[in-house]
Amino acid sequence: MKISDRIAASRPLATTALHGRVEAMRAAGTPVIDFSIAISHLAAPPAVRATVHAALDTPLPYTSVVGADTVRASLCEKLARDNGLQAGIDEIIVTNGAKQALYQALYVLADPGQRVIVFRPYWPAYVAAAQLLGLDVVLVDLPDELTAAFMATLAPAHLLILNNPHNPTGKVFTNAELEHVRDWALACGAGVIVDESYELMAFEGTHTSLATLCDWRALGVVTLFSCSQSYAMMGWRIGFALAPANVVDAMQVLQGPVTAAAPALSQIALQSAFAGGPVDGMLDDYRSRRDLVVALCAGRPWIAMAAPASGPYLWADVRALTLDTIAFAEALLEQASVAVMPGEALGVAGFIRLGYISDDVATLVAGVEKILAFGDGYARGHQ
Ligand code: PMP
Repeated sequence: MKISDRIAASRPLATTALHGRVEAMRAAGTPVIDFSIAISHLAAPPAVRATVHAALDTPLPYTSVVGADTVRASLCEKLARDNGLQAGIDEIIVTNGAKQALYQALYVLADPGQRVIVFRPYWPAYVAAAQLLGLDVVLVDLPDELTAAFMATLAPAHLLILNNPHNPTGKVFTNAELEHVRDWALACGAGVIVDESYELMAFEGTHTSLATLCDWRALGVVTLFSCSQSYAMMGWRIGFALAPANVVDAMQVLQGPVTAAAPALSQIALQSAFAGGPVDGMLDDYRSRRDLVVALCAGRPWIAMAAPASGPYLWADVRALTLDTIAFAEALLEQASVAVMPGEALGVAGFIRLGYISDDVATLVAGVEKILAFGDGYARGHQ
């Protein structure tokens, strides 16, 4: 069949496409070690699993498109308790992960051709979703520190997307930086979509919601939350957005005919997760893995990485080796059966992203050693 012009020029997300390829290689009998995305080796928090087990014996009806009232009321309590945000249930929409909330927010806030600023390196879904909607994506290199002077160099835009904490660098934005973003948005009348999916994953620094530093309804701030990373619940496909009530209304117009409500069972799980807190020991577990990989890679002249302040990724600079990290990742997968995400997929060549929270520690170490051996050989071969 002929594919519509609208979609024909678009490609699958690099991240999910690579993951699909890894699955196919595994199904064909090749034992691939996959660092290309970060799928936690942990199960959901025990309270979530217990709540869901009990809910299986009850009716699980469709809920209203925006999510069950009881779930949204409990999310209002979470926002007040954990984030210092006061919201009504009409300002919350429960979605199939932050990804759906992101797409819907972009859809209802911007028309084709309007400018959206995305910091680079970026989570590929920001760019892909904006491009699907015909928005004008303006990529801006993320500096080490967002200052007022830096923000003043940005051209006015209709929207800005901020990921705090940040995938892939792990940067946790300070209040001062968030205030500069706020002041810039106020000055040029831009709305801000803040993705706070990694809110519970800060090893250092404190995560602050941008919405606490401004009149978020007046400024036009949409904040995205997810169970995927903060609660090790990737496959549950559940998250939510906090947005002004008219934005939530518009988002549900889109969500209704596409997915209707998020699954009732996952909504119950989300309520339990956000009420009960993360998996015990999750951060300590991730921190020790992070430190282990940083230590294993130390001393190699061709790979440089800082221990990230948050998150499940290491963002490794391999520019001393190559700027073609697509070719590097491709050869690594073919020759060593290890998958990493080439920086090009996140907008920056010469870097690779390693998700370090999957599998057991022995596999993690084995995978890193394979990368190091491969990289040493690559360095020798390209001298
Ligand atoms: N935002 C970012 C920046 C992410 O990296 C991820 C997980 N990969 C998510 C959100 C989670 O999205 P979802 O809730 O759709 O799983």
